Amino acid sequence: MKAVLVIADGLGGRITDYNGKTCLEAADTPNLDYLAKIGINGLLDPIEHGVRPGSDTAHLSIFGYDPKEVYTGRGVFEALGIGMDVQDGDICFRANLATVDDELRVIDRRAGRINEGLDEIEKAINSVEVYDAEIIYKSSVEHRGALIIRGEGLSYRITDTDPHKTGKKVLRAKAIERAVSAEKTAAIVNEFTKKVHDVLKDLEINRKRMKEGKAPANIVLLRGASIKPDIKPLKEIYGIEGSAIAGGALYLGIARAIGLKTIKPEGATGRKDSNLLSKVKTALDELESRDFVFIHFKGADSCAHDHDADAKIEFIEKIDNAIGYLLDNIDLEDAHIAFTGDHSTPIEYGDHTADPVPLVIAGRNVIPDDVERFNERDAMKGGLHRISGRVLPVLFGYCNFLDKFGA
Ligand code: ZN
Ligand code: ZN
Repeated sequence: MKAVLVIADGLGGRITDYNGKTCLEAADTPNLDYLAKIGINGLLDPIEHGVRPGSDTAHLSIFGYDPKEVYTGRGVFEALGIGMDVQDGDICFRANLATVDDELRVIDRRAGRINEGLDEIEKAINSVEVYDAEIIYKSSVEHRGALIIRGEGLSYRITDTDPHKTGKKVLRAKAIERAVSAEKTAAIVNEFTKKVHDVLKDLEINRKRMKEGKAPANIVLLRGASIKPDIKPLKEIYGIEGSAIAGGALYLGIARAIGLKTIKPEGATGRKDSNLLSKVKTALDELESRDFVFIHFKGADSCAHDHDADAKIEFIEKIDNAIGYLLDNIDLEDAHIAFTGDHSTPIEYGDHTADPVPLVIAGRNVIPDDVERFNERDAMKGGLHRISGRVLPVLFGYCNFLDKFGA
């Protein structure tokens, strides 16, 4: 038996999305509707009712982990997701190349979405020495990257240096807890921030950019300090081998943290323009030799953050098309599929809400209900009713992957 879990980021919505309909209701989704018809449906509270999920915590919860127990912040997933080696005790951050003036006031949080000289910049950042700590930076796409501070007696309980707004000064990192380790780490971060600005501001690529009237990448803003979480890999819990197909670093990082093989296929960008068919084809290839494949589609969430209902509807239809290809090439006598979202991102609100999302599971061991359309409203009538997180264990149950609890 094989298992496939597909998560469409920010899938759920509200009836304020589009003329009294959610984007899912407004979209033309014959393949998802077919899945609803042959499957068992319900509503999912990604973490639990009344909790507004982040994408990282929601994914952990859907995978069967308790984020309140295992979550240590986002930075580590970004670092893992771009292939960095994360060791016990490392402090990981999401890092932004940005532009500041001489007083460290932020002019551009993305350094003009810089897309040149990234190797030179990476090298310069990695040359910064702060006390006895090792600084390891890796760039991912444009201004984005991850940074690791490695050393003795550090703590991730410190605040961001990223002010999250232009016009504001770069913040000083502060210890969140009264501990020598947190004070030490904050001091390292603040010293790093000063030194990295000195190193970057005179870099050749930045001189060139300034001459051309472009924003120089003359600072590194840090946020989401975290450490390697203590997570038991899926293989140890269920004895299965799995792969993850995603474009965004965060999702690849979460997948690595739970012991999945990670693949970013050709054309997978983690954005609206992502090639979803390429993801599904890669998933089908993986399924030949693996027990489980996880596929992540990001675009619907990004469209909703932009308050763009038309784009979200269009992206949902693109997902539906990819699901059609999956269904054409998979035998549901041998496989079970679960399809859901990691949270709702309504158009008007433009951010994640605690509203539940529809969930469907299909395959030979599933007793179908009477639901015929895949959306928030119809899912209310489904046989799964309303569940909290743990979609993967439920899916694995249908696949007979679970050990018995008790005798
Ligand atoms: Zn999300
Ligand atoms: Zn989002």
